[in-house]
Amino acid sequence: MSDHKSQEPKSLFKRLPKIIVPTHYDLTIQPRLDKFTFNGDVNIHLKVKEPTSSIVLYAAELEIDNVTIKSDSKNTQEGKVEYDKESERIAVNFNEKLEVGDYALTLKFVGEINNRMRGFYRNKYTTPDGIEIRYGASTQFEPADCRRAFPCWDEPNFKATFDITLITPKNLRAISNMPVISENEYANDKEWKIIKFDRTPIMSTYLVAFVIGEYDYVETKDLYGVNMKVYTPVGKKEHGQFALDTAAKVLPFYADYFNIQYPIAKADQIAISDFAAGAMENWGLITYRETRLLIDPKFSSMDTRQRVAGTVSHELAHQWFGNLVTMDWWIDLWLNEGFARWIQYLAVDKYYPEFDIWTQYVADVFTTFLISDALKSSHPIEVPIGMFIIKDILY
Ligand SMILES: [Zn+2]
Repeated sequence: MSDHKSQEPKSLFKRLPKIIVPTHYDLTIQPRLDKFTFNGDVNIHLKVKEPTSSIVLYAAELEIDNVTIKSDSKNTQEGKVEYDKESERIAVNFNEKLEVGDYALTLKFVGEINNRMRGFYRNKYTTPDGIEIRYGASTQFEPADCRRAFPCWDEPNFKATFDITLITPKNLRAISNMPVISENEYANDKEWKIIKFDRTPIMSTYLVAFVIGEYDYVETKDLYGVNMKVYTPVGKKEHGQFALDTAAKVLPFYADYFNIQYPIAKADQIAISDFAAGAMENWGLITYRETRLLIDPKFSSMDTRQRVAGTVSHELAHQWFGNLVTMDWWIDLWLNEGFARWIQYLAVDKYYPEFDIWTQYVADVFTTFLISDALKSSHPIEVPIGMFIIKDILY
C-alpha cells in the first residue's frame, strides 16, 4: 500500500452555457477612493431559453449581498449565491424554477479598487507641484477581468448593451465609453455627483471602461463630426496634441477604408498613470500607458513620436476590428491583433510618409516573427485556450 493520496482530476474549462443570454446591463458604480473600495449595483436583462433554477455567471473578488430576479410578469424572487472562487463564477439559485422568458437579474455588491492594474484599480499620481500623492481609478478588463468590477457574462461572444452610471466626488472627472447624457448633484450627498452615460452599442464585456480622476484635455472633431479628446495629467495638456492630431486623421481614414462609420459620437483617449500593457482599445475610451500617448513638444524623440503614432493607429483600428467585429473566443485573438498591427503601418505611412515606416516594419515586425517561428517552441497559430491561459496571452 502506498500513502499516496489520489487526487481529484481538475475539471476541464467549459464556457458558460447558452441557455441564459444577457441582452443589457444597467450598471451603477460608486468608488470610495479613501478606502479603495466601491459599491455597485447591476441590473442585467436576460433571456432564459430553457427552464432552470440556477443562473451561473462570472464574479471575482466581489462581495454580493443581495440578488433578486424579476420576470416579465413582475414576479420577484430572491436568489441565494454560491461562490466558486477557483473558476471565478457564482451560481445564483432560486427556490422557484425560472420558465422560458425575459428576466431582470439585480445584484448589489462591494469590491476592492485594487493595486494590481486589472479589473477596477487605483492610479497613483503626484500633483503638478510634485508635493502631494493622490489617487484616481480606472479599468482594464481584457481578457477576463470585467468580473472583478461587476458580475457578468465575461466571455467575448456574450455581447450586450450597457447603460453606465458613476457616482463620484464633484471635483473628479468621470469618463466612460459613451458621452454623458446627464450630470446632477447626488441626492444623498451634496459633495458628490451622479453621471449617466449614453447607451453603448452591443459589445463584449472586455471593452467596458470607466475612469475617475483629475485630468486636463485637448479636444477636436474629426471630418465626420466625432468628438475627440485626449486626456492628460493636469498641467500637461499640450502633451496630448500630437496623439489628438494623429487620431483626428486616422479615425476618418478607417471609416472610409472599411466603409463603415465609427458608431459612437465620441472617441476619447486617456493617459493612465499606472498601466500594465501599452494601450487598451475600450470602445470610445482608449486607455494608454503615458509613454504611448503623450509627446513633449520640446523634448520627445522621433522614435517616441513614431511609437505614439503607431499605437494610436493600432487602437483606433480595433474600434472596428475587435470591437465591432469580435472573435467568438480568445483562440482567434491572433486575427484581431494581426490585422490591427498590419493596418497601423498603413495609416502611419499615409499621414507620416517621412517616418518610412514600412522599412521599419521589415526590421521590427517581420524579422521578429521569423525568430519566434524558428524556435522549437514555435506553435500553430491556433492553440486551445482554457480559462487560466487566457490571462497570459499577448496582444
Ligand atoms: Zn491590439
